[in-house]
Amino acid sequence: MRVIHSVRSLHIWRRTQESLDIQVGFVPTMGALHAGHLSLIHRARKQCGIVVVSIFVNPLQFGPAEDLGRYPRSFIADRRLCREAGVDLVFAPRPDEFYPSDFQTTVMVNRLTRRWEGEARPTHFQGVTTVVTKLFTVVRPHVVYFGQKDYQQSLVVNQLIRDFNWDMRMIRCPTIRESDGLAVSSRNRYLPANQRTQAGLLSRALGLGVDAIKNGECRVRTIQSKMQKMLGKASDVHVEYLAVCDANTLEPLTQVQGTVVLLGAIRLGNVRLIDNRLAHCPRKIR
Ligand code: AMP
Repeated sequence: MRVIHSVRSLHIWRRTQESLDIQVGFVPTMGALHAGHLSLIHRARKQCGIVVVSIFVNPLQFGPAEDLGRYPRSFIADRRLCREAGVDLVFAPRPDEFYPSDFQTTVMVNRLTRRWEGEARPTHFQGVTTVVTKLFTVVRPHVVYFGQKDYQQSLVVNQLIRDFNWDMRMIRCPTIRESDGLAVSSRNRYLPANQRTQAGLLSRALGLGVDAIKNGECRVRTIQSKMQKMLGKASDVHVEYLAVCDANTLEPLTQVQGTVVLLGAIRLGNVRLIDNRLAHCPRKIR
């Protein structure tokens, strides 16, 4: 497995791969790798001849009051996990080379970023789309792997791929969860034991919403109040949003129709958690 830190070396490496006519699969990450990231890497390993993983804590996607400084960094362990998973190349750009002091370009997807995470974290998605554009430009992958865990992000990046006519395919991989349903995340480690127990309620609440839809409930207010009630059981949970939206546009619905996504964001102390579930309305609305 190769590890490359400089953009120039990556360009040289990529040129040597060109003549080989092999599919390059790419998994962008911020490191602190866990079972969720590994599921993306394993999927890429199965489907592509070359697997590239990037490890880069992207300062542009953190707001001024967010946890950039204390975001977990574990490069040596990450490198080992990548090697064990059969990764061909780890690209870990140096922040000062990737964003030199005269860096001044921003890439932005508009409509899809307005609500939900975009509203709670106003500069987040432009940070994501800017770094993803840079990473895609240097890695030039054929297939890119993103987690359903960050559902809105996966839609935003997919839109970016379409809007720029990039010749690449996105695979959205299922969310990997702890035994109580909590989506695996590098931020879970910040939860003290009592709040860790309460964190599991977010996925249970979304699951309750999915079950209600499966049983024919189409009124979003009723679904939302069931989910809210479940989260109300946890004294430390502050709900930021619990929404039932069109799965493609993320516009909020009043009646469930077709495929929908249930999105949730909560705060537990100073830890912010997001999760989502997809559901399909079993009956047609006339
Ligand atoms: P991050 O390092 O948080 O930027 O995440 C890198 C990629 O891993 C993103 O596409 C995430 O959606 C994905 N990811 C993070 N957590 C999980 C999880 N629990 N299950 C599946 N994918 C995940």
